[in-house]
Amino acid sequence: MSDATPAVEGWFTTGPEPALIGSSCRSCGTISFPRETTFCKNPACSGEEFDDVELSRRGTVWSYTDAQYKPPAPYIPTSDPYVPFALAAVELAEGLVVLGQVADGFGVADLKVGNEVELVVETLYTDETGDRTIWRWKPVTAQNGAQA
Ligand SMILES: [Zn+2]
Repeated sequence: MSDATPAVEGWFTTGPEPALIGSSCRSCGTISFPRETTFCKNPACSGEEFDDVELSRRGTVWSYTDAQYKPPAPYIPTSDPYVPFALAAVELAEGLVVLGQVADGFGVADLKVGNEVELVVETLYTDETGDRTIWRWKPVTAQNGAQA
């Protein structure tokens, strides 16, 4: 078995219930993602100390797109030439909107604004040290007993 390690260090936890890692300001409680390590994002706060917090594993689709161009870091290109894929901006209960690729096997046709998605960790690419993983958003289907 090869080791699976995050392609970007310190952005998310792994395991059966992975979660994004944000920071919580010790002075005002403002939550940031990616983690804040220098100054609080709250302009009215001068906090400089933060605690790591795990963010909600589920959120709702706020916006989505087919990525026709290469996204910014921490995106790591896995194919050359670049192959477009679906990206979702997901709003979490913390009030943050987190961009992520949509899980393997899903595309824009599976997304709808306001629909629930869940964080999953999938293999982004494999190098000599093993699998490198990244978080993705997976549409939550209505078949999980969540019928309204
Ligand atoms: Zn603060």
